[in-house]
Amino acid sequence: MHYFRYINDKLCCEGVSVYSLARRFGTPLYVYSQATLVTHYQKLQSALAPVEHLICFSVKANSNLSVLRLLASLGSGFDVVSGGELQRVLAAGGEPSKCVFAGVGKTEAEIEFALKRGIYCFNVESEPELERINRVAARLRKTAPVAVRVNPNVAAATHAKITTGTYTTKFGIPFEEIESVYARAAKLKHVRLRGVQMHIGSQITTVEPFEEAVRKTVPLVQSLKEKYGIEFFSVGGGMGIVYESALASGSPRWWEGPAGKDLLTPTRYASRLVPLLKPLGLRIIVEPGRLVVGNAGILVTRVEYVKRIGSKNFVIVDAGMNDLIRPTLYDAYHEILPVVRKRNATFCADVVGPICESGDFFCKDRVLPKVEQGDYLAIMSAGAYGFVMASNYNSRPLPAELLVNGNRVAVVRERQRVSALWEDEKLAPWLK
Ligand SMILES: *Cc1c(COP(=O)(O)O)cnc(C)c1O
Repeated sequence: MHYFRYINDKLCCEGVSVYSLARRFGTPLYVYSQATLVTHYQKLQSALAPVEHLICFSVKANSNLSVLRLLASLGSGFDVVSGGELQRVLAAGGEPSKCVFAGVGKTEAEIEFALKRGIYCFNVESEPELERINRVAARLRKTAPVAVRVNPNVAAATHAKITTGTYTTKFGIPFEEIESVYARAAKLKHVRLRGVQMHIGSQITTVEPFEEAVRKTVPLVQSLKEKYGIEFFSVGGGMGIVYESALASGSPRWWEGPAGKDLLTPTRYASRLVPLLKPLGLRIIVEPGRLVVGNAGILVTRVEYVKRIGSKNFVIVDAGMNDLIRPTLYDAYHEILPVVRKRNATFCADVVGPICESGDFFCKDRVLPKVEQGDYLAIMSAGAYGFVMASNYNSRPLPAELLVNGNRVAVVRERQRVSALWEDEKLAPWLK
């Protein structure tokens, strides 16, 4: 669900016209709806109410300081995957004691920083990492709280690049080896076994893979609780969202998604998992990223040219794959809507950016309302893995980001200045 609606044929983010934002702040432009974000967080929060739980927002999905601050103010914890993300959380006022630190490649410096700040737990992805954490903690005369990430070897029915819970990926420790790893970890003097974690992938749109992974892992978790007194079980993130909102067709029931599909809502997710998790008597952690912010953001772009090559139409816009890489990286679908609806003819076109790459596209052979130079388009559901993956390729400055709250608008990141692109560069002395 989200709070983007047409009012008198103008797309609005909550109470603000997107057209007015595009005129005022320029394009390409990310616009986030605070109400959408808060609603998703609260829906998950109340669905999980029957178990003691902590939501750790996955910072890699959207790390804007205002987004993090907003979530921190709702009581959210954070799932970070680098020292940089932890520093961002701290800069936004997040509590380190509610942070979990995942990732297969934690450096000594990152471990030291996180230990000194007092994070809730390191989610460990290999035995060498466990040994490194123990060594760093010993040097600092500390005890590091750790959980081991279980790779349950469960297929998640999602895109290969966002599958993480099978033995063909680099993540976690194989299910069968977990007991022996805990036995060895229990002998390390400077780590404390605090929990167990898993995360099977992203954009998983049915509850079955989660259920399968939890069913498979629960007996193991129970045994670890009895042997080592662990206090939490993190079931990770990965809850999928609806990218096809059918807002284009004007269906009043669009939030229920495509007809006949059992959407993964927080309620459905919790109603299937809570009965399996509750008997453990452990604190349950979830690490949603996309579910919270995905539908809360759009990327607004302006049509620069419409051209025809052979039988194909191309709509060339001022946003590129450097601003939103999901279509080319994950074959991702994003709905594309006119910012001002004109109810005129439709045509079939590719929407592409200005970057010199054939992979620079937002959609292919899509039936769209006929657009012309100067029109604005909204690329929907771009709040997760959008801006965070933006780059300066082709020397394009990063877009601005806005946060809308009812009728209020805040620039939460200024559009990057072009001169900032080479601010850190230096001429070699022999070229001066
Ligand atoms: C990326 C990631 C998440 C969040 O995934 P979403 O699909 O955005 O919910 C959660 N936990 C870990 C360990 C991750 O790497």
